[in-house]
Amino acid sequence: LEMSVPRFWRKIPQRYNLIGTQCTSCQSTFYPPRAFCPDCRRAGEIVPYRFEGKGEVVTFTVIRTASDAFEQQTPFVLAIIRLDEGPLVTAQIVVENVGEACIGMRVRSVFRRIGSDGESGVIHYGTKFIPDVPYPDA
Ligand code: ZN
Repeated sequence: LEMSVPRFWRKIPQRYNLIGTQCTSCQSTFYPPRAFCPDCRRAGEIVPYRFEGKGEVVTFTVIRTASDAFEQQTPFVLAIIRLDEGPLVTAQIVVENVGEACIGMRVRSVFRRIGSDGESGVIHYGTKFIPDVPYPDA
């Protein structure tokens, strides 16, 4: 890949990253992105902010039945994750066995296939989370 890193990031749509916004006045971060800060209102300048994509599971549920597009993935874990920077994100956690999921587990974001449209064959990608294991092969 010959592309520079900034150019690489610019070419990836927001949904492929955990790109939110930050208020330069109070430093609060927002995901999904907000156009203005609820505390500072117009006093705070809003700038793009890229989250590290790491956090902790606050709560989760195991989805056993889903719509057609997701059916092939059931059962799967849908969790509310608190990012290390503060915001809460609802996302799927990819685990070998749904029994691995637990409250308080460390997770990190990955870019994965979300589903496909059977009619058009379009494949949708987005952010999912996986257990954050520091040294997976050690
Ligand atoms: Zn603010």
